[in-house]
Amino acid sequence: MNNRNVVIIGGGPCGIEAAKTLAKLGHTAFLIEKEPHLGGHLAKWDRLFPYGQKADEVLNKITSGLENVKWFVDTQVTSINRIDKSYNVILGNGMSILADAVLLTTGFSLFPAEKKEEYGYGIYDRVITNADLEHYFAEGNDHRIQYPKKIGFVHCVGSRDEKAGNRQCSKVCCATAVKQACEIKEKFPNSTVYCFYMDLRMFGRNYEDMYLEAQKKYGIIFVRGRVSEVSEKQDGTLLIKAEDTLSGKPLRVSLDLLVLMAGMVQNSDTAKFAQMLSLNIPEDGFFQSKNYFTAPGVSSKKGVFYAGACTGPKTLPEAIAEGKSVALTIDEYLL
Ligand SMILES: Cc1cc2nc3c(=O)[nH]c(=O)nc-3n(C[C@H](O)[C@H](O)[C@H](O)COP(=O)(O)OP(=O)(O)OC[C@H]3O[C@@H](n4cnc5c(N)ncnc54)[C@H](O)[C@@H]3O)c2cc1C
Ligand code: SF4
Repeated sequence: MNNRNVVIIGGGPCGIEAAKTLAKLGHTAFLIEKEPHLGGHLAKWDRLFPYGQKADEVLNKITSGLENVKWFVDTQVTSINRIDKSYNVILGNGMSILADAVLLTTGFSLFPAEKKEEYGYGIYDRVITNADLEHYFAEGNDHRIQYPKKIGFVHCVGSRDEKAGNRQCSKVCCATAVKQACEIKEKFPNSTVYCFYMDLRMFGRNYEDMYLEAQKKYGIIFVRGRVSEVSEKQDGTLLIKAEDTLSGKPLRVSLDLLVLMAGMVQNSDTAKFAQMLSLNIPEDGFFQSKNYFTAPGVSSKKGVFYAGACTGPKTLPEAIAEGKSVALTIDEYLL
């Protein structure tokens, strides 16, 4: 057995899976999470597309079997320095670990929806985000959601948007919108629910079925068009202006609730780690593997690896699978 120290930074689904696999392979896995609990964004979701499984059940499964991992929450990395072939990782709690490999699994951040001022997030009470709606589904209360009769979803908020500084598609938000539109219709069966989209990117197995069910079973109205403006009326309801790009006609719709599908952008700590480890990051801010096809997860620095949503928008199964596979890549490197 070739026991080595590996530091994994970021205790989301990807980091947890990688740490468990490295421990099973006989290494000492140190998993460092800055938040007070493990689980990353998964811990914030209620139900998961495409099958509607409860997020907490999936999280419980992922976090079981961590006995052989040395994990730390509420802990920041203060510095990382190369010493010969190893990395000296110093933590905010004063501990230092001499690591033979460092794995970054720091995930993504949600696009700050208030940056798109025209949608009024943080200004109008009844404008919320996809993450807020997940929180409402999980907790059952939000003062902004009071028996809405007309609900709109806006796709591509902060994604595919040069002005917002993010040209890329966030991959998961069309599926999330369709899932959430059906869930809110179930909660408020008499409501009318609109999805305003540019293209629908329902790329995975069974995703198209979700979309067909949204139309046939739930009666969700899909409008191909970009919302250009949102304003608040005196009674607190919202007036939205959009253009139906299929018919070419302008649209004005009154709504009781507007849900913004905020996209996945780079975690703000990516730049900090890039600086500590002298890594180059491309314009989109996500870490990039040395070779997309033949060396996924391998950085340009010897002994430094990355996986999961810190390398670009990912679904949950993709992030978990990357965690497992990068652990095997690290094990081979440590031989
Ligand atoms: C609204 C929304 C809904 C979604 N719903 C689904 C769904 O239904 N089905 C599906 O397949 N996918 C879904 N996804 C995608 C899913 O959330 C991601 O694929 C998954 O969370 C990625 O896991 P990760 O571990 O790579 O990153 P994250 O979940 O982002 O975890 C990263 C972890 O690293 C930690 N971290 C960051 N910086 C540091 C630091 N400096 N030091 C220590 N720790 C740090 C973070 O606190 C976090 O715990 C959804 C995404 C969004 C935006
Ligand atoms: S997944 Fe859909 S909503 Fe998200 S950025 Fe891509 S096209 Fe837009």
